[in-house]
Amino acid sequence: MTVLLDERVPRTLDEILRDWARPEHQGARLEAWLFEDEAARRAAEAAFAALGIGARLRSAYKPLVHAFLEEIDTAGLARARVRYPVHPEADSLRFLSEAYPLAAMLEGVETAFEPGEADLTYLVSLEYADGGMAEHAVFAPNRLRGNHLDEVDLSPAGWLKIVGRPNGAPDLDAPLDTEIEQVFHRVMAALMAHEWPAEEPYAETIAIDVAIPGIERALAYGDEVISTREALHEDFYFSLLEFFKRRSGRSHEDRSLQPGQIVPDIRTGEGDAHVRVTLRPFGEPQDPTRPEQDMERAEAAPGLAQIHRELAALPGEPFEGVSREGRPVRGLYRPGSRPAVLVTSGQHANETSAPVGSLRAMRRLLDNLEAHIAYIPVENPDGYALHGRLCEGNPRHMHHAARYTSLGNDLEFGQGDAVYEIGARNRALELSGAQLHINLHGYPAHEWTRPFTGYLPRGFELWSIPKGFFLIMRHHPSWAAAARTLIEAVTTGLSAVPGLAEFNRRQIEICAIHSGGTPYEIINDVPCLITAETRHPTPLTLITEFPDETIYGDAYRFAHTVQMATVIAAEEAFAAIMESASV
Ligand SMILES: [Zn+2]
Repeated sequence: MTVLLDERVPRTLDEILRDWARPEHQGARLEAWLFEDEAARRAAEAAFAALGIGARLRSAYKPLVHAFLEEIDTAGLARARVRYPVHPEADSLRFLSEAYPLAAMLEGVETAFEPGEADLTYLVSLEYADGGMAEHAVFAPNRLRGNHLDEVDLSPAGWLKIVGRPNGAPDLDAPLDTEIEQVFHRVMAALMAHEWPAEEPYAETIAIDVAIPGIERALAYGDEVISTREALHEDFYFSLLEFFKRRSGRSHEDRSLQPGQIVPDIRTGEGDAHVRVTLRPFGEPQDPTRPEQDMERAEAAPGLAQIHRELAALPGEPFEGVSREGRPVRGLYRPGSRPAVLVTSGQHANETSAPVGSLRAMRRLLDNLEAHIAYIPVENPDGYALHGRLCEGNPRHMHHAARYTSLGNDLEFGQGDAVYEIGARNRALELSGAQLHINLHGYPAHEWTRPFTGYLPRGFELWSIPKGFFLIMRHHPSWAAAARTLIEAVTTGLSAVPGLAEFNRRQIEICAIHSGGTPYEIINDVPCLITAETRHPTPLTLITEFPDETIYGDAYRFAHTVQMATVIAAEEAFAAIMESASV
């Protein structure tokens, strides 16, 4: 094992108390913006107050949302107008996005969002039912910082303002390099400075272990949760992929880079932050213990062993590939007289409603002796195991580190010979000759951000806010009509799923307010993207996207029910399309 960084970073909140909660500053008025939860900030304010120092400590992350949660009176609120900052160094909708999910939090209030000035301040005008009015200027502290791509980001930042100091001492009004910002930049610097080998993969596991205080606050809308630790995981993971891609001369869109398994594991800490970056070997494959689930009513992702047991109970011939870490990638082939269909799930292993949804669909489809199916329930078992392990510390986080294989690539975009995970999919196509691939996926169930390198997830802006169950149809150019017929039939079939139309409408409405519109087609209440391309071996590829990272209980059950219904509707519709084509 190689240790690249092992440090303790002092907690900024403690440093502010040490420096300013002192009798000689009595009479001063202090405002600070930190990546700290409300309880920690209120406790610090009380410590200041005991010394006669007025202090207000706010959140540096999502400051407008926190202002509505902590400071702005919403009782009897009738109308709200929010002018959000528009800064030349940021996406024009960046601060509207950071205000999410205010439109949902202000349910029943007539709310309008308008672009404002570059001054990093939200201007909020409120009208109450009793005729009262209020204005608030909510500061959004941000600073320009260089990043790992030699670009400059406008990023949320700690801040300190002090006025009224005794004996005419000067006022302060400046960024504060908080411990979470320091942790992010020190880890990136250590990894960027390391002498990586010329050949990929650069290591088996690149592990970033952090324990740090911060915000983990659930909101009363959908699965929303504000989490600075989740944001740190996401920013490490994608920033490192971007850094390695650029270093190897690849484009930003590339998904074939194989740097090794990148694992940021960000745990709740007390006091100072601890950070340790190591390069380590995989070790023997181990799968985390997960509670046994009744597949029809599963409330959480089952263990890989249970999925493989359920697979073995289905009729058909087994086939098998192998993962980078040596786990089996199990599949099943069952010929029939209907047109062959390939069904896969778990390509991105943090999208956990898909394996259960596809298994439930198989139980039903394979009852029909005519159905012709090739099926792989978990294409990326190493990622699936990693997701389970990361969920032990942070069950609700989206954990994108578990998305790709342990080589660090999207398994669909490998290099050279088709070894490891993609081998199983290639075998399924060989056996079945399927012309439709139903590929089940998911995306974050709550907002996805990268606050240490701007805010919006670069390249994935469309997926930063949940917008309901989404379908992507990719078709070879000559299959355009069949693709359209298939998506019409599938979305029509899905309208029979209780609650789906309402679920989608609500999420689309709120997402559209905070992201500036609906840049996709909506067919039968399902947002859809239909594109012609030739990258996929099958002429038709139907990709599902349920906002399932990471959900449990009724929400999880609903998610895998929608996935199941999609597979059944698509297999049926495809059989009808192929039959009418051959007449
Ligand atoms: Zn996916």
